[in-house]
Amino acid sequence: MRVTIFGTGYVGLVTGTCLAEVGNDVVCVDIDAEKIARLERGEIPIYEPGLEPLVRANRASGHLRFTTDAAEAVAHAQLIFIAVGTPPDEDGSADLSHVLAVARTVGRTLNRYAVVVNKSTVPVGTADSVRATITAELVARGSEVTFDVVSNPEFLKEGDAVQDCLRPDRIIIGADSARAVEMLKALYAPFNRNHERIVLMDVRSAELTKYAANAMLATKISFMNEIANIAEQVGADVELVRRGIGSDPRIGYHFIYPGAGYGGSCFPKDVKALEYTARQHGHEPRLLAAVEAVNAAQKRKLFALVERHFGADLSGRTIALWGLAFKPNTDDMREAPSRTLLEQLWQAGAKVRAYDPEAGAETARLYGERDDLVLCGQYAALEGADALVIVTEWKAFRSPDFERIRSQLKQPVVFDGRNIFEPKAVEEAGLAYYGIGRGRSV
Ligand code: NAD
Repeated sequence: MRVTIFGTGYVGLVTGTCLAEVGNDVVCVDIDAEKIARLERGEIPIYEPGLEPLVRANRASGHLRFTTDAAEAVAHAQLIFIAVGTPPDEDGSADLSHVLAVARTVGRTLNRYAVVVNKSTVPVGTADSVRATITAELVARGSEVTFDVVSNPEFLKEGDAVQDCLRPDRIIIGADSARAVEMLKALYAPFNRNHERIVLMDVRSAELTKYAANAMLATKISFMNEIANIAEQVGADVELVRRGIGSDPRIGYHFIYPGAGYGGSCFPKDVKALEYTARQHGHEPRLLAAVEAVNAAQKRKLFALVERHFGADLSGRTIALWGLAFKPNTDDMREAPSRTLLEQLWQAGAKVRAYDPEAGAETARLYGERDDLVLCGQYAALEGADALVIVTEWKAFRSPDFERIRSQLKQPVVFDGRNIFEPKAVEEAGLAYYGIGRGRSV
């Protein structure tokens, strides 16, 4: 099928590439000319495992093209995907300006029937706004072209995006047009071969499903962080508690890891946007507000542990950080807990030496050159440092050379913000250990 994707970010680029991989003719369009130029040179602007070879192969076969020419891209398509950003506005609501800008472009250029598929995460009612925006543009130019708008929220995880896209858990299609449903079913057939993954529903339910999924995951994280903070106070080890509750199939082991709080481009903004929607409709979202408040406090937890150990004035101290990305296998720093920690450490007068396998360049771009930040290698980060803080649970950090850590650090102390170490093993190596909710060692 002929597919156009607006937006070549994490979602647009991965979706476009995977749809090209199964034989569709895909055009990816973006307003960011530099991004498109890089993609045309074969450079991938984001770090996402497995993406680069797929993009290269599909460009070479001619199934995947990149352009800034929106009119040409619309003319190409039977299906037009909207995969642009929906960042939070100041009041927490989702900023729909990019989504509606695409709708206007489609309305101004559409010349034959197409299905407009909204993949961006958008509040309930946005499909209606997209439909109204396109219709207004068509009416303004006297066009009688017909179209459908479908909600098809995306559930890929950064770091696993290609696999998630090729083997989705579920494909939500929210539609009120049989013609559009048939086209989407045909498009997704290659991803739906062995068992039924397509869940059909009305548009509003599809829009809410995406927020409900992210809010549920954020709730699990905040719940576990709450339990961790209780464990710390009562002298229990949350890691044992986690295993104890995860064995109940009604609870399960997924997403109950305590840590330094959730970040990234989705959970924080989606929880806020859902709260906003609830309030707009007269419902006070007490649970969601608590999820957000617990997370905001948890992002400050690592600094609180450092402060408890060294005191509030950290001038003259150097702290080594392993991990900057908001989670492993990505270079994404949006709302990363590392940023809260970095800013608190600087505020307290500390210098930071930091290592991340992928997010170093993004950190340098965000903070620029500064005297109190050195981005370097994993063990180089320890040189002259008073302490080591684990902020992101990259696999490469799980079995470090503790002897080397102890001999390189000025103060033999490790703050494990993701509970990736066994406290005993760290302590036996002669290092003091602080984890999250590990009451026995705090
Ligand atoms: P992103 O910020 O990485 O990329 C968005 C892209 O859209 C940018 O390249 C931007 O230049 C482009 N863009 C903006 N306006 C445009 C326009 N008018 N025409 C063409 N291109 C335009 O965003 P993302 O992380 O890919 O997220 C996109 C949407 O998908 C968001 O609503 C997000 O909430 C949702 N989502 C994201 C993830 C994720 O893990 N990143 C997962 C599921 C859903």
